[in-house]
Parts: sequence; C-alpha cells; structure tokens
Amino acid sequence: MINYLKNRFQLSDSGASEIIRAIVSGALLAASNMIPMIIIMLFTQGLLEGGLPSLQTFIILICGGALVMFVLYYVNYNDTYTVVYSEAKTLRINLAEKLKELPLSFFSKHDMSDLAQAIMKDITDIEHALSHAIPKFYSNLIAFVLISVLLLVWNVPLGLSIIIPTILSFAFLYLSKSIQIRETNKYFVKLRENAEKFQQAIELQQEIKSYRLEEATRKDVAASIEDSEKIHIRAEFSQAVPVTLSGFIARSMLGVTIFVGSILYANDGVTLLYLLGYILASSRISEAILDIQMNFAEMLYIDSRIKNIRSINETAIQSGESAEIRDTAIEFKDVTFAYDDNHVINGVSFTAPAGKVTALVGPSGCGKTTALRLASRLYDYDQGEIRIDGRDMKNIATEDLFKKISIVFQDVTLFNTTVLENIRIGRPDASDEEVKKAARLANCDEFVGNLPDGYDTIIGENGGKLSGGERQRLSIARAILKNSPIILLDEISAALDIENEKKIQDSLNSLIKGRTVIIISHRMKSIENADTIVVMKDGLVEGLGKHAHLMKNSPTYRDMIEKSQLTDAFTY
Ligand code: ADP
Repeated sequence: MINYLKNRFQLSDSGASEIIRAIVSGALLAASNMIPMIIIMLFTQGLLEGGLPSLQTFIILICGGALVMFVLYYVNYNDTYTVVYSEAKTLRINLAEKLKELPLSFFSKHDMSDLAQAIMKDITDIEHALSHAIPKFYSNLIAFVLISVLLLVWNVPLGLSIIIPTILSFAFLYLSKSIQIRETNKYFVKLRENAEKFQQAIELQQEIKSYRLEEATRKDVAASIEDSEKIHIRAEFSQAVPVTLSGFIARSMLGVTIFVGSILYANDGVTLLYLLGYILASSRISEAILDIQMNFAEMLYIDSRIKNIRSINETAIQSGESAEIRDTAIEFKDVTFAYDDNHVINGVSFTAPAGKVTALVGPSGCGKTTALRLASRLYDYDQGEIRIDGRDMKNIATEDLFKKISIVFQDVTLFNTTVLENIRIGRPDASDEEVKKAARLANCDEFVGNLPDGYDTIIGENGGKLSGGERQRLSIARAILKNSPIILLDEISAALDIENEKKIQDSLNSLIKGRTVIIISHRMKSIENADTIVVMKDGLVEGLGKHAHLMKNSPTYRDMIEKSQLTDAFTY
C-alpha cells in the first residue's frame, strides 16, 4: 500500500505512511459518525421493550462515544493537514534537488514556465488533494465496507437496498474515470500552452513593439484563452453523464430503502426502530457517496500534474564518482549526440591537449557549441566517450568536474543582484578585494565606476541594465575569479565592440595562459595561432591541425578563411 501511494501520488516514504494513517483514522472517524445513532437506537429499543438502561449507562455511552469521536477527529486532523503541509514542502524540496542534478539537456526540452508551474501550482493542487480528497476518498470507501458488514448482519434485504445502489453508483463513477482523465489532461496541456504564450508575449516585448505585432499577439493570446475555456466546458460536459447517473443512483438509495423497508415492515420483517435506523444510514451513505464523487474528481484532476512530476522524478540524473582531476586534457572518442531526433554530433574524435589552446571552427550549425556543451558536461553525450584524466567523463561526479571548468558562453546569464555578487559566483568564498581585482582584469572597472552604486549596483533581471559587452565582461571576470585549469569560450567576442574586444584581449590572454582551452570564434584571425584547430562540418571532424596544414588540407577551413577576409573588407 505504501509503495502504491508513493508511486501513484509521488510521495516520500514518510508522506505515504502518514497518508495511510490519515486514511485509517479517517475511516474510523467516518464509521464513528454512526455511534450517536447506534446509542440512541439502543436506548430507544430499551425504552420500547421495557428494559430501559439506566441514565448512568446512557451518559457513559454518550460521553464515551463523544470522546472516541473527539480523539479520532484530532488524530485525523493532525494526520491530514499538519502532515500534508510538511509533505508538500518535502515534495517541493525533492523536486528542486532533482532539478539540480539533471543535465542541461533536460531544460532545453522543457519550458521554464512549465517547471516553475510544476514546483509551485501543481504541488499546491496535490497538497489540496492530499489533505482533502485522497484520504477522504479511501477512508470513506473503507468505512463503507465496515458499515456494510453491520448493515448485512442486522437485516440482509435492507442492507442490500443500501449496498447495491452504492455499488452501482461507484460503478458509474468508475466508468467516468477514463473520460475525466482524458478531458482534464487536455485542459491541463492547454493551460500550460497559455502560460507559455503569456510568458513569450511578455519576454518578446521588444520584437512585438518594433514589428508592430501587438494586435496579432493580443488576438493569439485571446484565442488561446477562448480555446482553453471551450476545452474546460467540454471536459465538464463529458464527465456530466456518468457523474450525474452516479449521483442520481446515490440520491435514489433513500427511496429504495424506504420502499423495501415498508414492505418488510408490513410483513413483520423489521421493527420500526430498525427501519428508521436503516433510513438514517441510507441518507448518511448517499451523502458520503456525493462526497466521494467530489474527491474522485479532484483525484483525477491532479492526475496530469502527478504525471508531470513523475516524469521529472524519473529522468536519469548525472551521476559519477568523486575524483581529483589532475590531467586536464580532454579527449573526444567517436562521440555522438542528438537533440531528440536531430543528430548534431555524429562521431567526433579529437583531443584538446592540457595547457594548450584548441579552436573549434566550422560553418554555423555544424555542432561547435554542442561539442563545447558536451565537453563541459552540461549535456551528456549519447555514444562514444569523452575522457578526462584517463576516465570517462560520465563517471566523474559533476561537482568535481565543474570545479575544474570555467565556461564563458555567448549568452551570459546574470542574476538580479549586485555587480559584486554576480562576479563572486565564480568563487563564493572570494573576498571583495579579490572580486574587484578580477573585475579590473576583465576591464569592468570603468563601466562599474559609472553605475549609480558602483559594485553595489543591482543590475536588473539577467543584467537588463547593462549592455551586451558589459554583461560579457562580467562573465569573463567570473571566470578569472574562478581560476580553473580548463576554460571553455564560446564566441565571447560576438557581443563586444572593437574597443571592448581589444580591452579584454590582453586580460583573456593572461587568463588562458598555461590552461586547457577550447575556444569557438567566428573571427578566424583570432584562432590562427591556436595550438590545434578542429574543423567541424555536419557534426563530423573534417580536418585537424595547425593553420598552415589546414589551409592545404581542409576545403571548409580554406573557405572560411577566404570568407572572413571578404567580411573584413565589407563596407555598408
Ligand atoms: P554551432 O555552434 O556550430 O553553430 P550548434 O551546436 O549551436 O551549432 O547547433 C547545432 C544544431 O543543433 C543546430 O541545428 C541547432 O538548431 C541545434 N540545436 C542547438 N541547440 C539546441 C537545443 N537546445 N535544442 C535543440 N536543438 C538545438
């Protein structure tokens, strides 16, 4: 049962066992709701048959019953609400921990708003279902079985007049399950699409405004919302038939009980007191069924959310053993990699020697950035091997690997905090002086001096208050501060103007001296002196060696050099 609940609702071990306690206490509580009725029946029976129990016995029974109910209420409340609150916290933390362990390839396949929604909104929905629907659903079912036994023992025909409609009502409810799951799933997917559209409409304001796309965007978002409304209404209607039938049967149960009971009473098959008891039980149970219907709908409603969380939890994490990396040469051996079905790296082999500069060149889209992502283990390759320090990179703990690698990519990611803290990310224990020294080496000093609070200026979401070149220099300062033996640079000069580029060239040269460097640059001049140049084409290595060798042997390289000379000569 624990494993079923864990898997079905993606709970932790303790969460699943707490929910079982909540179900058991809830079932006992539901059954105990019959206690006052039973006591009064016993008392009335005594009254009618002349064997009236003493007032003292009556008071003891009432107080005992109330005490039992109070204790069950307390235990059940604690088991459901308090425990579920902490389980929701555990679910969120576990999910966040899991996301931390996943390779970057996972994030490229998932929308960010989707993941944020999974951690915040989906878990809130699950939390609500865990505290309300799930324990109540199961405890009502268990209570129903317990009560059914009593009802059958006391009077079989009257018991059946309650049990048969209940089972029929459940059967219709169960029949509606697949329709409800299918329709709520569609609605869920549509809501995700809406969230993505909203996010895109907000993020792409610059393009929307400059290309006058306001009206088209507004119409697109409005159409999407309208669509989701239609899907929602369809979902409600498709569930309506089986759910209404189930409700109708539950509501008619009382009529059936009165009908069967009257015939039995007329034929001395039941006493008036028992008949009244069964009528009361029937009305209680039909109410409970309506309650179960609501809980069942909520359980199905969270189904898609749970599937989403399960798929995150089941994604393989990047594992590996702790290792001290000494030899920093990186060796690609027949490596392949695909983004879903898009085979981008198709058997690449080359070595980036320790302490040397290796340049990756090739036409746009040939897989250079992807190769760099694989070398940094931000993505895991599919086949072949990338070896470092004599081991398969996949067998080294990412923590140990990342310690040795600094990455400066074209797309710089900055946090909405101060300049100082953004650079300190390179080495969290660095002093302010060390951070400022790295900033000076990366030529950040001048522009930081012009910011309102200097190094303490908050730079906005993803450094929105800085220019492309300034953001790039901050990321270089981070790498300088990190001082790692392997440096991966991807088109870092692409966002720099000529003055900036010149400025950081010297600091970059001192940064990469004696280190293992893999660099991608479209400025062919800047990589001509690299120790090794790897020419890539269509996800394969076309040529490998120094500039002079490649000029003779690699048509792609020669072509790129010629084109770059033409580009240099271009005037507007
Ligand atoms: P290059 O750096 O040589 O220009 P990339 O490695 O960036 O090439 O891209 C190679 C191919 O992989 C391109 O066709 C590109 O569309 C695709 N690609 C790159 N990044 C992703 C991604 N995150 N998801 C899916 N496809 C991608």
